[in-house]
Order: sequence, then C-alpha cells, then structure tokens
Amino acid sequence: MVGVLDYRSAEAVLSEYADRDGLDVATLMNSKANGGLTYNDFLMLPGKIDFPASVVSLESKITKNIALKTPFVSSPMDTVTEADMAIYMALLGGVGIIHHNCAADEQAAMVRKVKKYENGFISDPVVLAPSMTIGEAKVLKQKLGFAGFPVTDSGKVPGKLVGIVTSRDIQFLDDDDVLVRDVMTTDLVTAPEGVTLLEANDILRRSKKGKLPIVDAAGNLTALLSRTDLKKNLHYPLASKLPKSKQLLCGAAVGTRPEDRDRLAKLAAAGLDIVILDSSQGNSIFQIEMIKWVKQEFTGLEVIAGNVVTREQAASLIAAGADGLRIGMGSGSICITQEVMAVGRPQATAVRAVCEFAARFGVPCIADGGIGNIGHITKALALGASAVMMGGLLAGTTESPGKYFYKDGQRLKAYRGMGSIDAMEQQSDSNNAATARYFSEGDKVLVAQGVSGSVVDRGSITKFIPYLVTGLQHGLQDIGVRSLEHLQEGVNAGTVRFELRTASAQVEGGVHGLYSYEKRLYN
Ligand code: IMP
Repeated sequence: MVGVLDYRSAEAVLSEYADRDGLDVATLMNSKANGGLTYNDFLMLPGKIDFPASVVSLESKITKNIALKTPFVSSPMDTVTEADMAIYMALLGGVGIIHHNCAADEQAAMVRKVKKYENGFISDPVVLAPSMTIGEAKVLKQKLGFAGFPVTDSGKVPGKLVGIVTSRDIQFLDDDDVLVRDVMTTDLVTAPEGVTLLEANDILRRSKKGKLPIVDAAGNLTALLSRTDLKKNLHYPLASKLPKSKQLLCGAAVGTRPEDRDRLAKLAAAGLDIVILDSSQGNSIFQIEMIKWVKQEFTGLEVIAGNVVTREQAASLIAAGADGLRIGMGSGSICITQEVMAVGRPQATAVRAVCEFAARFGVPCIADGGIGNIGHITKALALGASAVMMGGLLAGTTESPGKYFYKDGQRLKAYRGMGSIDAMEQQSDSNNAATARYFSEGDKVLVAQGVSGSVVDRGSITKFIPYLVTGLQHGLQDIGVRSLEHLQEGVNAGTVRFELRTASAQVEGGVHGLYSYEKRLYN
C-alpha cells in the first residue's frame, strides 16, 4: 500500500478530487489526435445501481411531435422493411420505414396495410350482400384470411345491417350455391355509432362474439370491431400509435425528384405518419425544397431529413423545417461509400456533432448505420441520438422481405445495400429509388456504394426486439440512469463518464483466450 491512510469517509475524500473519474463527453470527442471515433473506440463508465433494470424507460421522441416507447427504427431498404416488418416494429414499440425501391402504388399499398393492421374500428369492413352465394363468401375468406362478414342490404358500407356470416355459418356447408341470406345470423349484438373504443371493447368482450358491428341511428353499418384486434392489443402494450388512435404508426422513404411528390401524395392518402427523405448526402437544394413543400402541403406529416454527418449539413435542413434528422454516412454494414467517394465520417463522432447541435432546436436525431450489437445502441443514445436505425441487424429476421436459403450449412437471408449494383439495377419501374439515392440522372455508369450479401437467420423480431429492449435497460442500469432522458442529461452535465479504448483494450473487452466457444445471445 502506498501513502498514508486517510481516516475520513471515502465520500469526503472523493469530493476533494477536481474531476470525476473518466472523461466527459466533450473531452472524449475532442481527443482529435485519435481521429473520428466509432462506437468501438469508447465505453461508458458504470454509475450506481439503486433501481431494477425493468423500470428503465426507453421512451424517446423520434421527430418533434412523435415519441416511441422503444428507440428502434428499421431501415428503408428492400431487404429490410416492407409491410410485415413495419407492422411488427410498430407493435413492439418502434417504427418501420417502408422502402421505395418499388412502384409508388406498391409502396402506398404497404403503408395502407400497416395502417389497417390493428384498427380498433375498421371503417371500411368487407361486407356481403344477402343475394351473394356461400361460394363467394368462401373465396373471400380464402383471399383475406379471415371470415366474419357483416351483411348489408346493399352489400356496401354504409348500408342497412341485416346479418353477419361467420366461419361457423359456412364451415360445413358443401353446397356453394346456398345464398348468404339463408345462412346468416340475424341475432346481432351491435354498438351505436359514437361509442368509445373502450366501451366497444367491453361490449365485445362480454358478448363473446368475434365481431362487433357499429350502427348509426337508422341501423346502417358504419364500422366494425374485431376480437382478434382486441387480443393483439393486449399482447403489445408498447405498440406505437398516435394519441387517441388505434392505428399503428408507419413511416416510408421517398426521394426528392418531381415524381416523388406524386409518390408522397399517394403515401399520405394511405395514412403515412412519417416521411424520410432518403439521400446519402442530404444537404442539397433538392432536399431543402422538398422539406418546405411537404410542410406546406401535408399538415401532420412529420419529415425526417438527411443523411447528415456535420453540423453544417444539419443546419441547412433544420432551417428548412425538418422535424427530425438521420445521421450516418459510410457506417452501414453493407456500405462502401467511404472507400469509393472518400466522403463520410466515423459514426460516433458524427452522431455527437449533429445531435449536440440539433438538440438546441429541439430536433431529434436517428443514428443510422453501423449498429452491430446492443452496446452500439446504448452508445449512440448516450451521444445524443433519440433512436437508432438498423438494417443488417434486422435483415435476417422472419419479418424481413425475402426467403431463407442455406449456404455452408447456415440458414441465411439476402441483405444488400441500396447503392449496390444489384439494387440499382432493379428497375422496378421507371422511378427506381435505389438509383435515385445513390446516383444522378444522366450518369452513364453505375458506381456502387454498397455490396450485396447475406446475413444469418435471427428468428422473429418478436423475440429479437424484446432482447434489445432488455439489454438496453440493463446497460442504462449499469450506467446508473433510469431513462434515456436521464442518460442524455447525465452526459451533458458531465456525470455520465466515458473512457477511450485502445486497440488492446478492445481485444481485452472481447472474448479471448478460449479454445472454442458458442456465442448465444438470448433464448
Ligand atoms: P446497417 O444497419 O449497418 O446494416 O446500415 C444500414 C444503413 O446503411 C441504412 O439505413 C442506410 O443509411 C445505409 N445504406 C443502405 N444501403 C447502402 C449502400 O448501398 N451504401 C451505403 N450505405 C447504405
């Protein structure tokens, strides 16, 4: 032991130190001799645990007006986010951004599917006419995957409700020519128009029926409530919805060309909540004009602009009216932008520089690209990001587009950069979005900024996202903060401390010295 023993309390002695142990965020970032930092170049120091991890709140704003219960966003890539991914991301408390490497109508149909997924009140239910046949009802059941059709006199909505046909009514009927009017149930439990969702759910629960038709004073069907939706609501307490709405939140990406204005009009008509202006270098007059146009044309539609990696880029887009920013250039797992364009920025430095600036204007930022594990997520959020956007981490899941295939004994799914030759060559229509993101019109040669490859099967995001949530809660608990808000306050106040990691510290922090091991991340 060195020195003289001190008989005062450890706390009293600690208070005599000028600084806390470790580095504050500014010192960490100003260690410019090290160059720009990536997530792997630093760690947070542990704080004090005096609460369970399960109470840690991960609520966060992703635009000026929209908050999520979990800070996760799926990337607008054609191997990551279509309707299924967007539905489950929203159910689990995040949000999915539907890609635009497809025709505008296809993209709008995907947005519509997400918005219609969990309707409390289905405002345009599929209905039958009394004169239709059971054969026709069976075809509809087959096509839509559900049975339980209200019957109106006109076969339309609104129309006078005269009965309901359920699976049970048609299941054992062999004669497809029987008419709906002869088998439909006419003993109906209904609720009056104007009923609140809570009351309607209660009636549905007590009635033990599968569907609850909502009727106006004249007995016309105006909407429908479904028991399956009720069950889904119970299973997803974190689901992302606007206040007072039962519809899931949905985002989609568009470019900034004139055709993209028509595309966006279709997406907005389908109920879109958040639009992301998708560009690898967002600081352009095209994007500035597009932000202004969107804010003027569509009230209530939130615009996330980007991508940016510097304060200066961010300033242009904030001034134009962006409700959120997307940060990252060259950090994506499939990305070769830095190699080919010689432009970009190490992601941790980019995230801190932009978030610190944008926070002054109340503009939330999404850290996009390079998220390879939960630790990266915790670090991005500590540096000021409000949410993280993931591509590769979500690409191999059940909910991502594409089919699994086997290679070298591994179950895989394709994952490709939107700037890969593969994606850019896919001329899904004359309006190829991948080309638009990474290329200028009139260029004769396609220069790739991304690669095309595969990732291993990660199972369903219904397991993977809860794993990320729990891991993140434990990370914050170790740091000693109860919420993302406290994390960022602590970082700004200098109470949450950092440490740089040398190359050998990174080796030490990984698994080492084992002959062999299996890395199972969750069960
Ligand atoms: P990941 O989560 O590390 O796989 O990164 C996904 C992010 O990479 C996306 O959200 C985009 O910002 C970015 N990205 C997508 N395609 C390309 C590409 O072809 N080149 C460069 N970056 C890309």
